[in-house]
Amino acid sequence: MAKSPEVKLAVFGRAGVGKSALVVRFLTKRFIWEYDPTLESTYRHQASIDEETVSMEILDTAGQEDVLQKEGHMRWGDGFILVYDITDRGSFEDVAPLKGLLDEVKRPKHVPLVLLGNKADLEHARQVATEEGERLAADMACAFYECSACSDQVGTGGGVAEAFHELCREIRRR
Ligand code: GDP
Ligand code: MG
Repeated sequence: MAKSPEVKLAVFGRAGVGKSALVVRFLTKRFIWEYDPTLESTYRHQASIDEETVSMEILDTAGQEDVLQKEGHMRWGDGFILVYDITDRGSFEDVAPLKGLLDEVKRPKHVPLVLLGNKADLEHARQVATEEGERLAADMACAFYECSACSDQVGTGGGVAEAFHELCREIRRR
């Protein structure tokens, strides 16, 4: 039997980008419309990834923390999902500073990371082109997904679960 490594994942991004909806989609395969936006929660989850059982602890941050709280979450995590909303350019512009803070907190370690553009179902309201997301991910040397917490049928490459699984793989590689 394969052992069951534990990884700690934290989800970051501006309030309203859909962090809670994404985490719940990953855990339950359902979409739930409303969460308390100020709520911060942790969840436990087990998944079989590449035929190995991986235990995850997932921190869904509120996105309204001050720098000290953010740094605490960053120290806690082994890997990070940086989320923006493709219909909110400001949320995209928040990503690079988050990555900067992560590098500072984790230095000199490499930081396992996935960039996720959420709300890909709202194509008509898009403010951030797919290519911009790809470019930012290339700059940060991380995987990139566009997806929707509403539906796994939208976006690139395997939906929400694939982004979480890829992050677990990235952590295990180090
Ligand atoms: P958080 O503050 O980052 O945790 O964001 P929430 O998960 O609370 O979501 C904020 C709002 O965006 C809620 O009204 C959600 O229903 C909505 N939302 C989240 N993900 C999606 C998505 O993929 N598509 C659409 N259309 N709405 C979403
Ligand atoms: Mg939330």
